[in-house]
Amino acid sequence: MARKFFVGGNFKMNGTLASLQKLVADLNSAQLSSDSEVVIAPPSLYVLPLKELVRKDVAVGAQNAHIEVSGAFTGEISPKQLHEEGVPWVILGHSERRSLFHESHEIVGKKTKAALDVGLNVILCVGETLQEREAGRTIQVVESQLVAVAKEIKDWSKIVIAYEPVWAIGTGKVATPEQAQEVHKDIRSWIVQNIGETVAESIRVIYGGSVTAANSIELAKQLDIDGFLVGGASLKPEFVDIINSKNKTNKL
Ligand code: PEP
Repeated sequence: MARKFFVGGNFKMNGTLASLQKLVADLNSAQLSSDSEVVIAPPSLYVLPLKELVRKDVAVGAQNAHIEVSGAFTGEISPKQLHEEGVPWVILGHSERRSLFHESHEIVGKKTKAALDVGLNVILCVGETLQEREAGRTIQVVESQLVAVAKEIKDWSKIVIAYEPVWAIGTGKVATPEQAQEVHKDIRSWIVQNIGETVAESIRVIYGGSVTAANSIELAKQLDIDGFLVGGASLKPEFVDIINSKNKTNKL
């Protein structure tokens, strides 16, 4: 079964309402391949106004959501409120959340369950630090992040896994297509062994970490790379080229 190419744009805590409205207006008038599913994740304050503005074939997502659906959690984002407002996606487990906001593998697992329980789709980020890679622990780290999620959920149909090596995020240091493919293949093998072959065949495993229009085509050619999660370049016109990069490969 062919997996639909998936490209997410993580705007992080960047932009103003005006600058992001302009960005979305440009996206609205661009030629986007219908072979790619596209999700943009603006800062939480701007998710709803941009949802109203963005073309209907581009979905919106939040960059985080809490475990609980409501209550005394000042400053948090409720997964239920996102769903009720028609926001279909949320990014969970981003390395900035894991490192700067101390989200453990267990918390990410519980957040994933909470998001799925209310009906959200999840872009689940996993990835190793440079130190972990250099110690030869890449797949071990990624697997332990996946195990924490597998303890909480059974149904993986609303999950896209984003492999994002921490050393490549926002650094301009992209993983080589071979490095990325190797980990994507390992993730798929882990899913075959621990979740099932059908899920492994259908789940999208996307790459994130300094993706640009200049490197996206070579990455997109890799067998197990089903798209991208894009940070910095999602705020630039080249995001359109990244979205369309699959069409420049011979992949089905
Ligand atoms: C990200 O934040 O998910 C990301 C991949 O950032 P960048 O593309 O800027 O490395």
